[in-house]
Amino acid sequence: MKVAVFSAKRYDRELLAAANAEAGHELNFFDDLLEPSTVVLATGCGAVCVFVNDVLDAEVLAALAAGGTRLVALRCTGFNNVDLKAAAAHGVRVVRVTEYSPYSVAEHAVALILALRRKIHRAYNRTRDGNFELDGLLGADLHGCTVGVIGTGKIGRVFARIMSGFGCELIGYDKFESPDFEQMGGRYVPLRELAARSDIVSLHCPLTPDTYYLVDAEALALAKPGAILINTSRGGLVDTEAVIASLKSGQLGALGIDVYEQESDLFFQDLSSSIIPDDVIQRLVSFPNVIVTGHQAFFTREAVGTICATTIASISDYAAGRRLAHEVHAGG
Ligand code: NAD
Repeated sequence: MKVAVFSAKRYDRELLAAANAEAGHELNFFDDLLEPSTVVLATGCGAVCVFVNDVLDAEVLAALAAGGTRLVALRCTGFNNVDLKAAAAHGVRVVRVTEYSPYSVAEHAVALILALRRKIHRAYNRTRDGNFELDGLLGADLHGCTVGVIGTGKIGRVFARIMSGFGCELIGYDKFESPDFEQMGGRYVPLRELAARSDIVSLHCPLTPDTYYLVDAEALALAKPGAILINTSRGGLVDTEAVIASLKSGQLGALGIDVYEQESDLFFQDLSSSIIPDDVIQRLVSFPNVIVTGHQAFFTREAVGTICATTIASISDYAAGRRLAHEVHAGG
């Protein structure tokens, strides 16, 4: 099958090509994001393979369908960037990678917490400069902390289990409660209670109209003074301006993010020689108690290997007319 692969980085090209060795699909790699101005590149391709920041709105989906595309293969879990109703209306089917190492993202969330809590990022810079002073590096134990897990799905539960190993108390909030979370000692509480009681809040729910700006000024005002907020899920879950205000007032003690509302203009690119016009991210990275990573939580050998294998298998299933095990449907 002829496939247009968008947002293709060097590692995508190498690992997708390796996963495709036996299947033999014709993969056409493009550095570009899929968006209205680049959709023409997919003309004549039965499938497009896309990532988190590619744009699959009604306009792009209509153009894809007109060019002969009938399958969108997302090489990620989240599908908030796809207008599923428009896809269905144009007869375009959508598959994603429903599961790949949940450990990759959960462990990255824990890495952010440990770094912030023990000021590892600051110590790293200091010692490289020959400064071995401890002043300003006072940390705090994780043992005994209350950790609020918002979204206790696959990643949230792995995260919760790790934090329980540190001796943390687990409280959770989810639309659909999981007995596994309770079996590991977690207790479900209303969202407001979670916000008020947690020393650390970690977001692991999807971005939907329900969860957009779940963390806004009102939620932040409830937060325990000095609390840490971790977002490895999707940027739109958090009102970044409100977070900046809360960091400035000292209510929020630290922030670790792997995702950012406006990340599509920044992430996955080397902008180190450019003037970055986004004042919000520039303000965020200027705080000593903020760590930003560029959507790398999924980026482990194990996770990327599974993503590529699942994506190629879904394309092969579609080409052979088999059932699509990882299909996403409008309306859930
Ligand atoms: P999952 O579907 O297993 O779990 C999501 C959980 O969120 C479910 O338990 C669901 O019931 C819950 N949920 C849904 N709506 C909710 C709401 N309104 N309020 C509270 N909870 C709600 O998904 P997962 O595999 O654990 O992934 C979670 C999210 O992590 C994904 O949606 C994606 O956005 C993000 N993610 C990020 C990266 C990264 O590299 N940073 C990689 C993979 C996934």
